[in-house]
Amino acid sequence: MPTSVRLALWCLSAGAAVFALTTLRILATEGEVAWLLVILLAANGIAVYGIALGKRLAWGNARLLTAAFGGLTALGLALLAWLALDELVRTISAVGQTPVVFSRLRNFDFLSFLVVGAAVSASYWAAFVSLGRLSARRYFDRVCPACGSTKIKVASRRPLVLRCRQCPGEW
Ligand SMILES: [Zn+2]
Repeated sequence: MPTSVRLALWCLSAGAAVFALTTLRILATEGEVAWLLVILLAANGIAVYGIALGKRLAWGNARLLTAAFGGLTALGLALLAWLALDELVRTISAVGQTPVVFSRLRNFDFLSFLVVGAAVSASYWAAFVSLGRLSARRYFDRVCPACGSTKIKVASRRPLVLRCRQCPGEW
């Protein structure tokens, strides 16, 4: 297994672990958990499993999943940053008020949430980039054996056959 795939596997596993712990924590405090969270957790687990086994189809699924999760977590963090900035601006214009987000920042839970969120987002992006490396594409047999192109697609109606976009190659 090349380093790029090993790194992606570690990052995906770390993301899945944080996901699982968050789900368990919500379950412990709320007594129930949203089905969407369970489905996302299952998708993450399947991606880890497929990448660990070197399954050809797992590569595409894992790329999609890491882009979606990395994007969503980054969006969430950006939203929080925007809220914090918005409150800062309002506080500057109305002196004497303590901004809610900044008073929450002193709360350990909120701060740890931000730190963990940033770490999870970074690990999903790292997994996405690692899987895009040529060594990872080679490992998952995603490089055209005829011309060496990485621009490929799944052959129509045969999900296990890949087709090159640059030449008539199929494998
Ligand atoms: Zn080709």
